[in-house]
Amino acid sequence: MTEQTVEQQNKQVDQPAKVNLFALDRSGMEAFFTNIGQKSFRAAQVFKWIYQQGVTDFSQMTDLSKALRAQLTEEAIVQPPQVDQMQLSQDGTRKWLMRLPDGNGIEVVFIPEDERGTLCISSQVGCSLNCTFCATARQGFNRNLSSDEIVGQVWNAWHSLAEELGSTGFDGQQAKPGDKQTDLRPITNIVLMGMGEPLLNYEAVISAIATLRDDFGFGLSKRRITLSTAGMVPAMAKLAEDMPVSLAVSLHATTDELRNELVPLNKKYPIAVLLEACKAYVTDKQRQRVTFEYLMLDGVNDSDEQARELAKLLRYVPAKVNLIPFNPVEGIAYKRSPQKRVNRFRQILLNKGIVTVTRKTRGDDIDAACGQLVGKVDDRTRRSERMTSQRVAQPSAA
Ligand code: SF4
Repeated sequence: MTEQTVEQQNKQVDQPAKVNLFALDRSGMEAFFTNIGQKSFRAAQVFKWIYQQGVTDFSQMTDLSKALRAQLTEEAIVQPPQVDQMQLSQDGTRKWLMRLPDGNGIEVVFIPEDERGTLCISSQVGCSLNCTFCATARQGFNRNLSSDEIVGQVWNAWHSLAEELGSTGFDGQQAKPGDKQTDLRPITNIVLMGMGEPLLNYEAVISAIATLRDDFGFGLSKRRITLSTAGMVPAMAKLAEDMPVSLAVSLHATTDELRNELVPLNKKYPIAVLLEACKAYVTDKQRQRVTFEYLMLDGVNDSDEQARELAKLLRYVPAKVNLIPFNPVEGIAYKRSPQKRVNRFRQILLNKGIVTVTRKTRGDDIDAACGQLVGKVDDRTRRSERMTSQRVAQPSAA
């Protein structure tokens, strides 16, 4: 080991890690300022700089004193994940691969529509729930994301879209978070539907949602934030208490037998228990419904009989059904149901009085299924690492 490396390492050990302010919701940031001997109202000022002006460099936060800016530079950073890759589909769907400091990759997808722009974010690196149709599941579970890594995904996407719309970051007239003119906001809705099960990373997710909702943060109402779960029943009750955002549930089957196969978590929380929890989630909430995600798998769960069973199951739950065309994934045998079958399934549900929409297929020309892009890029990286190490190893082996 060289002298310089030892010096560098000692320096790293001596220096306490700086706080990434993306990790703190407003109450956390108020506590941070109090702890460093400052007034708590500084939190609102810094929040506005970060989330309304898009500024991450303390030296540009001009309504803070020079001394405070210097102190913040010593004690904190505002660091989103690094944007590694962006794929743009012909239909306007964008998918970013973002790289975390430990080298792990996560995916973020933006889906523009006429009236809204929806951003789909990740909550974990990989996932432990092992749903059999899912590309993310194939990577296994690596770790939970921290709240700064969750908030940082939104900040990155917002920043990049705002720039594209012609604003110079967040400080132009267009597309700034907190802007009440919805049509000028690039991102109107956020869904926690990317990689991972959000309710298995509860604390970080709740803290991140607090920043998404904060008027000085991204300023999104709770109805515009949707948390999608595979059915973590106990955490659903807690979520209703702590942060009652819109709820989506990945149902995908009408019998426990089939759901055990598609979503193995069902063995722990079977359909009847899950639906009771859904009913409880929306009790007392006016006009609120649970969205049931139903992936249409050819010859697996898409028959007329299954449509009727689904309608029967949802009789007593304020529900909306999203029929999702399956995005084929390499190595996964399921196939997308033909459009005629999807239409027929939808009509049966509609006839039974269940609000049902078919999600448009988006981003077909990019790696649209969750987990596909990370899987491909990291496979390539691992492959090239393997090839490099093979090449390095060859001479000594010879
Ligand atoms: S579908 Fe969602 S919960 Fe299931 S394995 Fe994939 S990421 Fe996890």
